[in-house]
Amino acid sequence: MKVHFKGTRGSIPTAYSANDIKDKVVAALLAARGKELRSERQIREFVEKKLPFQVGSGWGGNTPCVYVETGSEEKLIFDGGSGMRVLGQEFASQGISNTTFHVFISHLHYDHIQGIPFFIPAYDPSNHIVFHGGHEIIEDSLTRQMSAPFFPIGMDAFNAKISFETHKPGDVLEHCDAKITLIEQAHPGVSYGYRVDSQEKSMVYSTDAEHTNEAHSSSYPFLDFIRGANLLIFDAPYTHSQSISIREHWGHSSNIMGVELAARGEVETLAIFHHDPGSSDHEIESLQAHTKKFLQTSRSAIKETRPGIPGAPSTRKFPTEILHSHDGLVLAL
Ligand SMILES: [Zn+2]
Ligand SMILES: [Zn+2]
Repeated sequence: MKVHFKGTRGSIPTAYSANDIKDKVVAALLAARGKELRSERQIREFVEKKLPFQVGSGWGGNTPCVYVETGSEEKLIFDGGSGMRVLGQEFASQGISNTTFHVFISHLHYDHIQGIPFFIPAYDPSNHIVFHGGHEIIEDSLTRQMSAPFFPIGMDAFNAKISFETHKPGDVLEHCDAKITLIEQAHPGVSYGYRVDSQEKSMVYSTDAEHTNEAHSSSYPFLDFIRGANLLIFDAPYTHSQSISIREHWGHSSNIMGVELAARGEVETLAIFHHDPGSSDHEIESLQAHTKKFLQTSRSAIKETRPGIPGAPSTRKFPTEILHSHDGLVLAL
């Protein structure tokens, strides 16, 4: 299974400004002083291997869209944020046609559907696009998004066959050589998280979900949903202090909650997702460093705890890896 992150930013697409790019170039040139950088190959190697990620590259600003490659001819996609435009361009440039695309929608907030009108395969009459989700209003919402005065053309401009399927938590779906299940999540208007199991690998796409005090219960249903997954894509634009103060009830979670749930659910890799549009690359880098440090500290604290002490935490093996996902990231599970 290969997971392609096409959009990882939350709430609104976030472009780099001219000053952001200028700052990256200045920081790169400062770091290059005194280095032997004559050929393009040397320069590329320096940019890719020596420069910090936030200087030589960046997290990007497209809103949620994740493509999961399972080996099937049919395509499995989660959410239609602005990253879906990029995905559609890639499919078109690869000449992909005469194909069925299964698009699972977490919820209808604009940042999760705004790329759909720009998805090139929807204009190819040989394709079939099936929109899936837990909300009854998907067809109505997508139709309204593509209507005057919000958009110049309607959904009837899509030449592909378009259909809609509504599902309930507990349903087990089989598409793209995978078993797909869903869970309802706390978010304004509710959202749905999806688990994909295919060829002994598993991933969970869980965005726009606020995990509150109930998450500390051992019977918290989300734990069973993510149990043993190779990858958990987790919505965490906030720090712990933001999530319990100024941003409480905004429908999102913290990096610390992500680590805790991934550890208890024995998830291998935690990919933080839905970055705050107000966070610069430097801020995301520092959040990532903070998240990794929290995991390290909690592991060593556990090591120092003498076994047998009542209430002592159990050995923490998971997650084995933590990263803040970025646009263009591809993870092979
Ligand atoms: Zn969102
Ligand atoms: Zn939302």
